[in-house]
Order: sequence, then C-alpha cells, then structure tokens
Amino acid sequence: MARLGGYAIHLTILGCSGGVAAGLRTTCLMLDDDILVDTGTGAGDLTLSQMLRIHTVFLTHSHLDHVALLPMLADAVGPRRDTPLIVYALQATIDILRQNVFNFRLWPDYTTLPTPENPYVEFRPIVVGQPVEMSGGRRITPLPVRHAVPAVAYQFDSGRASFVFSGDTTYHEPFWKSLNTIDNLRYLMIEATFLNHNTAGAEFSGHMRPQLLAQGLKQINKRVRFLVTHMEPGNEDATMAEIQTAAGEFQPEKLKRGQVFEF
Ligand SMILES: [Zn+2]
Ligand SMILES: [Zn+2]
Repeated sequence: MARLGGYAIHLTILGCSGGVAAGLRTTCLMLDDDILVDTGTGAGDLTLSQMLRIHTVFLTHSHLDHVALLPMLADAVGPRRDTPLIVYALQATIDILRQNVFNFRLWPDYTTLPTPENPYVEFRPIVVGQPVEMSGGRRITPLPVRHAVPAVAYQFDSGRASFVFSGDTTYHEPFWKSLNTIDNLRYLMIEATFLNHNTAGAEFSGHMRPQLLAQGLKQINKRVRFLVTHMEPGNEDATMAEIQTAAGEFQPEKLKRGQVFEF
C-alpha cells in the first residue's frame, strides 16, 4: 500500500453530483490510492492500473448512484487480483446487493466466483460507531444517518485530522451529535439534494435541504470546512444560493470533481 506524502490522508473527489449528465459523475471518493468510498460513476474515470491498486471499498448505502460501478469494477479487476476486493457496508446494504445485484441475473455472484474460496468480492459488515482500522493508522468509522434505505456517514481519521462524509441523509440529530464528539474534525462534506420548497421530498426520500443544513450546522461546536455535495443536476446554483442565505456564516463551498484534500 502506498501512503502518499507521509502521515496525511489524501482524499480525491472522483464524483460528487446527485445525478448524471455530461461532465457530472455520481458519488465516489478515493482515499490515498487504495480505498474507494462509494462506487458511483466517478469510479469509471480511474485507469485500469489505478483500479488495480484499490483493495477496499466502503459503501454508504445501496442506492444506484453510489454502487453503480461496483459490479463492473469487480469484473475489471477480479481476474488480475490475487485476493478479493474487500467491500465494507451495513449488513442490510450487503443483503440488498446480494439479492438484487450479485444474483446471477443482474450480474454474476462475484462473492462466490470464480471460486467460493477465493472470490472477486468479499463483503464485510460494518456497525455504526465501530471503527475499521486500515493500514497507515487510517481509521474509518461509520456514523448514524437517516435515509430512505439503511445508510451511514463515514469519519476518515488520519490521526491528526478527520474528514466526515455524510453520504445521503436527511436531518438526523444523532449525526450532528456524533460530529461534536470528534475532537479533530476539520472537514464536513455533506449532501444538499433538494431545494427548500421540496419539504415533502426531503422527508420522504431522506435528503437534505438548505434550511435543514443550517439547522444542523448551528449545533456544531467547532469550526469546520463545509463542503456541499450531491446536488441535483441543473439546480446547483439555486441550491448554493439557498445555502448561502440559510447558512452563509458557515462559508459553504461547492465541491468539485477532481478536488484533493490532505488531512
Ligand atoms: Zn441515496
Ligand atoms: Zn445518492
């Protein structure tokens, strides 16, 4: 495993849109050069040799914009790897993917192929609040969120600073409380899928609106860099304008594909 530049984690945004269109990619983050967080269409911009360096994937939830390329990533790297691609997710998410994707109908069951002893993909369940220790002192902890399907946020802790990625969520008190227990919190990357008028949609489908973001941000007891992700294609400027009005004092930044954060 290559740690780039000493002790920091390098986090690269491969996709941060709530949907697809030319130039937009759905959610995919890369930690250093060996871990992916979600496998939306952003994962498809990696070269084959970059894909081969990925040994672990963390999923926030089962929705297609976050897992779409996992089956094809497994297909691309499986024959060239000696060990399975490790995929961490909630047990509920694993069950959904087994039942609906890796079922020999939508895609081959790469959790048993080419052999049950050494398959292309190995699922490992995560539990909210229980960290997964990765090489180089990197610690990845699932945090509680509330979405239309079982979902988690993640805290990436390099030891000297933490970056939290919300995944998909609506307003959820335990999420904001958990942020206040992270002493070295430096970045909060959080979704803003809907405009304020769509209160029913945000509640029904488990997403954020600018006013809900402001409600949460006011509870944070430390200063963080506030990065906005997962906006609806075509509504980015309107959403950022509403966030500016609701939560301008927190200096919202619209996340861009290709951005790299070191912490
Ligand atoms: Zn979702
Ligand atoms: Zn999503």
